[in-house]
Amino acid sequence: MRKKLVAGNWKMNTTRQTATTLVRELVAEIGQETRLDVVVCPPFPYLLPVREVLAGSRIALGAQNVFPEAKGAFTGEVSPVMLTDCGCQWVIVGHSERRRVLGESNEFIRRKLIAAVQHGLQVILCIGETKEERQAGQTFAVVSAQLQESLPALSSAQLAAVVIAYEPVWAIGTGINATPEQAQEVHSYIRDWLARHCGSEISQTLRILYGGSVTPANAPSLLSQSDIDGVLVGGASLQARDFLAIARAAIP
Ligand code: PEP
Repeated sequence: MRKKLVAGNWKMNTTRQTATTLVRELVAEIGQETRLDVVVCPPFPYLLPVREVLAGSRIALGAQNVFPEAKGAFTGEVSPVMLTDCGCQWVIVGHSERRRVLGESNEFIRRKLIAAVQHGLQVILCIGETKEERQAGQTFAVVSAQLQESLPALSSAQLAAVVIAYEPVWAIGTGINATPEQAQEVHSYIRDWLARHCGSEISQTLRILYGGSVTPANAPSLLSQSDIDGVLVGGASLQARDFLAIARAAIP
């Protein structure tokens, strides 16, 4: 039985005040929830104030990005060591906005993933096809290549720190979510891929999240699919009421 995970990716949104207010509301409502894992990923400058509010709760802190070196002359970057020092337990890597807007390659994402896991972070690795790729019938090929090139050969213990988020690019921030059937089809493909490349135990235990225009209205049907182990939520994670409704839909 895989425990569901609901993660909020706040992207480049909130202020110090709205970030702490938002997380205070989450802590008050689901701060002690044990039936699912909840992660919030604020922008870097708000990690520490959010961490203060999260103290003593079961909601985990995550970052939206990491650089694959521990320290050094990398102006503007943030290392995995700094993230753990700030109380992060999670980090998102490979988000499509970073792949497309910042030009990150599978190889670079792979390096980030290795560095993050080596420094004790748990990783949400995002993959997913564009609209054009789906229309050309390339969804499985794209997802397979992303897994092949960005998921490193880790030990079973290290893979236990990895979660995959299937996020079709055409569904992110568009209000057009994948249907539960479309998402389940790709999740099942990913699980088969994991069985072939990482073994059946990993394929059965590794959580696969869906992301892309998740709302309180569509979360229950997405989360009821057998291979959907949680959701990565962008826009709807900025409103406590919506994020709470989505989180509650993930409670078995
Ligand atoms: C995301 O940014 O990971 C995401 C899924 O965004 P949204 O929920 O807004 O589509």
